[in-house]
Amino acid sequence: MLSEHADLRALSLKDILTASDGTRKILFALDDGLVIETVVIPCDRGRTTVCVSSQVGCAMNCQFCYTGRMGLRRHLTAAEIVEQAVYARRLLSGDVGSITNVVFMGMGEPFHNIENVIKAADILVDEQGLHFSPRKVTVSTSGLVPQLKRFLHESKCALAVSLNATTDEVRNWIMPINRKYKLSFLLETLREELKFKNNYKVLFEYVMLAGINDSIEDAKRLIDLVKGIPCKINLISFNPHCGSQFRPSSDEKMIEFRNILAEGGCIVFMRFSRGDDQMAACGQLGKPGSSQAPLLRVPEQFRVALNLGV
Ligand code: SF4
Repeated sequence: MLSEHADLRALSLKDILTASDGTRKILFALDDGLVIETVVIPCDRGRTTVCVSSQVGCAMNCQFCYTGRMGLRRHLTAAEIVEQAVYARRLLSGDVGSITNVVFMGMGEPFHNIENVIKAADILVDEQGLHFSPRKVTVSTSGLVPQLKRFLHESKCALAVSLNATTDEVRNWIMPINRKYKLSFLLETLREELKFKNNYKVLFEYVMLAGINDSIEDAKRLIDLVKGIPCKINLISFNPHCGSQFRPSSDEKMIEFRNILAEGGCIVFMRFSRGDDQMAACGQLGKPGSSQAPLLRVPEQFRVALNLGV
């Protein structure tokens, strides 16, 4: 098997940081000196997930994301992506148990680097490669619709879509990719494309931001938006990072939101923060440095929620 015999060259290990909950952040140096981050998340029930990066930095400029502040430095090659999982297996299997799942939710928008991501996902599931089940390899996107269609046609791996808002107004602000591919276009594409997939559910991720996207109206709109799409919804607690203007929704708010979705017939999970004391949590990877992507103008009606005054 590749993971046992391959001579690994694309990455060199720089450091491993362990958070108090057992989450590990691995820092790798690339040939050109740039650094990427890979996170290994041990869970209960024998599941351990490795979260791989697909780019150095990211061009999408999602307003709640630390990696987005870096801007895009470069795409990773397929080898640089696959080696993160191979290394995680080699370095940590003894400590955290065997790696069972791979998620493309580290640094970068995977579909902005779709050639290499599809190649890497193929190697991860190939029996001559790492031989993960395609159901255990999930690629996450902020909503690049043409690439999402291509992925659904060419790959058997699972898909996650980072949704995070129920109106174009909010999504245009917190995820600027929505200005190009509107919510209705994104969701209609999924509705159409998933008709041709058997036994396949997309995972919608929804990072909960206090006062921005966590109202009862948002929950009700979300039920309507995902109608007719085979899906699961994952409500994620926001991990504040330095310079972040957003606050996490309270646990009570998340539970209320979850209950409305469940009563509306959705399959819904909640994920509380993991690894945040080592900046290993979702949306916290990378090092923006001195030149940072711009923060966008906050719509008037959300200035109070962010304590900006009016
Ligand atoms: S959330 Fe994902 S797509 Fe958005 S800026 Fe961060 S890494 Fe990029």
